[in-house]
Amino acid sequence: MGNRVDDVLIIGGGLQGCAIGLFLARSGWTVTIVDKAVPGRHASGVNAGGLRLLMRDVREYPLSLRAMEMWRSLESIVGYAPAQASEVRLGFSQIALALDDAEMQWVHARHQEMLRRGYTHEEFITAHELQRILPGLADSALGGLISRGDGHANPANASLAFRQAAESAGVLIHEQCALKQLNKLSSGRWSADTDHGVIEANWVINCAGAWGSQIAATLGDELPIRVLALSMMVTARMKPFIEPVVIGIDRPLSFKQSAVGSLVIGGGISGKPCLDDGTSFTIMDRMASSANATLEAFPALAGVPVLRTWTGLEGSTPDGIPYIGPSSRHEGLWHVFGFCGHGFQLAPAVGEAVAHSLVSSSLHPLLEPFNTSRFMSSTSAELQGLQQ
Ligand SMILES: Cc1cc2nc3c(=O)[nH]c(=O)nc-3n(C[C@H](O)[C@H](O)[C@H](O)COP(=O)(O)OP(=O)(O)OC[C@H]3O[C@@H](n4cnc5c(N)ncnc54)[C@H](O)[C@@H]3O)c2cc1C
Repeated sequence: MGNRVDDVLIIGGGLQGCAIGLFLARSGWTVTIVDKAVPGRHASGVNAGGLRLLMRDVREYPLSLRAMEMWRSLESIVGYAPAQASEVRLGFSQIALALDDAEMQWVHARHQEMLRRGYTHEEFITAHELQRILPGLADSALGGLISRGDGHANPANASLAFRQAAESAGVLIHEQCALKQLNKLSSGRWSADTDHGVIEANWVINCAGAWGSQIAATLGDELPIRVLALSMMVTARMKPFIEPVVIGIDRPLSFKQSAVGSLVIGGGISGKPCLDDGTSFTIMDRMASSANATLEAFPALAGVPVLRTWTGLEGSTPDGIPYIGPSSRHEGLWHVFGFCGHGFQLAPAVGEAVAHSLVSSSLHPLLEPFNTSRFMSSTSAELQGLQQ
């Protein structure tokens, strides 16, 4: 590798890294991304593709609203053909289903709270209307919340779209290139020791997903995450019968029917993460709990063949929202990880807001809730309490 000195080195070429790189390069900054695997190999390429405002943590709402606008106009960001390939389908709705009295009480409370905050995207939906739009739904469904503008996209193609747009904008991407060590030079620049040699940059952005906490820790930044192996399964093709994405409130339920008819089932359950090997596994009894939750909501699906399962590694923070912001210890270092299973939808807005913050030298207001020092005075017992 030559003596190139970049404005920014991004560790991790998932959707967050590529989106940030894209917007920085379009602002005229020189950017290199290193990924120890292939961009999109991990969470960004294997997720469920859900694009939802529904049931978001309210602190994420403003960023998520901006992201939804950007998904809606994806063509203007990545170009016509990559946007088409990304199969963004908004307006199909996402529905949170209440199957018992406790969940129904939660639905009413959440609905009131969102209205009080001025958010009208989550509407109350009756059992009668649910039966009309969700054929095969269990009689026990009591009602729920619907976010009619939500939908989904194709995660692998969307990741590729952002990667290619970033490269077209001038971002240099090194695949199979792990960051091994970061050092601060006397000039104030960062020197990164990587599989492809030394890279110098004025800024480093840690977008290493499930590995983000490890990288932060090597620099003394304690940003705890729990590493999850989020698990999915896909069934044989069925006749099209359902358009919305259906998610559970207090049970591991999440499913949609793909364009080809197969059911894609998740629900936030974790298998076995193997961070050091860069892999993860589904676990039989946990997949069974996901299947049971699906059958509780849609009993008619018993007997549908499951074709395959898969997992993806993701970091979950103690309070359920990501770390996005400058390091409190090191100048020129940002952390952007810990998306807790819902960072696919946020990525375009994260890219735009992080790039805007660096270029303008002032934190974008949409990023204020995610500051990286929010647990600095917490004890480990308090952090565990937040995680429950
Ligand atoms: C199964 C599953 C389902 C999901 N469903 C949804 C959903 O429906 N909707 C939604 O919004 N979100 C969903 N998510 C969450 C979403 O996928 C993630 O929040 C998002 O992709 C995170 O992007 P990222 O770029 O931070 O991480 P990643 O895509 O994991 O990218 C991190 C990259 O960093 C690289 N890296 C790590 N360490 C190093 C190193 N030392 N040197 C160089 N490179 C390194 C890795 O190789 C990796 O490519 C789901 C996640 C999973 C796993």
